[in-house]
Amino acid sequence: MFGRTHLTIAAFSLTMTALTAHNLPSAAAQSTPLVLRGGHWCGTPQVMPTTYQAPPAPSPFLAAQRVIWLNRAGGTYSGGPNTNSATNTVSSGIFGSGTFTVAPMSNRFDWPTLVACVKEHYKPYNVRFVETKPTSGKYVQAVVGGTGDEVRVGGGGLLGIAAADNFCGVTEAGIAFSFSEAHVGISRQTEELCATVAHEIGHVLSLEHEILGKDTMSYVPISSSVTKSFVNAESQCGTEPGRTNACSCPITSGSNNTNSGKRLLEALGARPTDNVAPTITIDSPKANATLGPSFPVTATATDNMGVESVVLLINGQERGSDEMADTGNKYIVNAINLPEGEHEIIMQATDNAGNITKTAPIKITVAKQVTGGDCLSNSDCKGNLCADDGTQKFCTESCSLDNDTCPSGFDCAAVGATAVCAFSADDETGGCCDAGNSSSSAAMFGAFMVGLVLLRKRRTA
Ligand SMILES: [Zn+2]
Repeated sequence: MFGRTHLTIAAFSLTMTALTAHNLPSAAAQSTPLVLRGGHWCGTPQVMPTTYQAPPAPSPFLAAQRVIWLNRAGGTYSGGPNTNSATNTVSSGIFGSGTFTVAPMSNRFDWPTLVACVKEHYKPYNVRFVETKPTSGKYVQAVVGGTGDEVRVGGGGLLGIAAADNFCGVTEAGIAFSFSEAHVGISRQTEELCATVAHEIGHVLSLEHEILGKDTMSYVPISSSVTKSFVNAESQCGTEPGRTNACSCPITSGSNNTNSGKRLLEALGARPTDNVAPTITIDSPKANATLGPSFPVTATATDNMGVESVVLLINGQERGSDEMADTGNKYIVNAINLPEGEHEIIMQATDNAGNITKTAPIKITVAKQVTGGDCLSNSDCKGNLCADDGTQKFCTESCSLDNDTCPSGFDCAAVGATAVCAFSADDETGGCCDAGNSSSSAAMFGAFMVGLVLLRKRRTA
């Protein structure tokens, strides 16, 4: 995967032997010897332990499945004493103490293809991938974006680098950077990017480089190796055939060999066997409902071992997914901007073992909503205005204070410099709509945000 040309391994080895587990090079110290012009390389320091480190032992307490967040949106990262995926902190020992920003992945790569490929690499192991930032618990962050220039570690050709503080073990809150835009123009670029993402995550999960070409932890590009995976076979440590180095994480003390497939099994455990499919039901919308062009679809999904994702299918096409359940095993995916007419909705749950269950399809009709109807955005409404009262959203329309054309149950109310139809103030006092109410509405709802009018929704039904 990392191009085979012009790797000045003598310089590489020289730098590496200077490393110890507790003495990682600063960015500045690395930059001179690690400039491998014309080649593609991985910037993750291969730590030379000062004493032998046994491979991580399988633990009966490791039942919890580790979570890896695939982040294609980029972000800003700062150097600190310890890497922490939740706070975007990276080890200053590797990255220096400054701050850097990684750009999002461009549309030159197909994200669903990339995600499926990375998942395939880790299919044998007990890990779970999500595409939205987890809100709790420890997780590995795999950043996919940028060019590599951001991190100022070494020179051109850098494809990826991992903040793997606990090298040879699992860095539970580690961060793996894969620089998507540095792959543009490489042969089979999406597959190479996939291999880089799997490789950099591998460093966070206890792996070092090895020379076996078909192994994801070698530098050999997929155009030469044909396949890439974590091979359960011994391989000499190094980056490609003929380019060996001493092992950081050997299979036994003093050995020149490592074994990526075996180490991952030891560190992560095997993916549990699970023949029980998840359950899923659609809570809303109801069958035969008439809705605006954008609306949330809510489902309840459960599984004996864990739901990996819930996907919304509209007319057979994937339209979004939710990987993190809300309270009560609720999953929500927004349908956005559907054309007017009839549509078929299915929600599909996948469990951690890959078992899939689909709901029965329900039919709904999409029509732009009249004033008072539900909405998510302005384009859902015939009046092209979606108002937000702070708890829910509803359609409204512009009106004239001089000539109130609002439908029954609504009054024209001034809001800031404009006027819109507001629910009539037929509140609990029984008072009805007069000029006084309208003007007090205007005073009350002085805040006018772009496209969103803050009004109190009063349902008459
Ligand atoms: Zn590497």
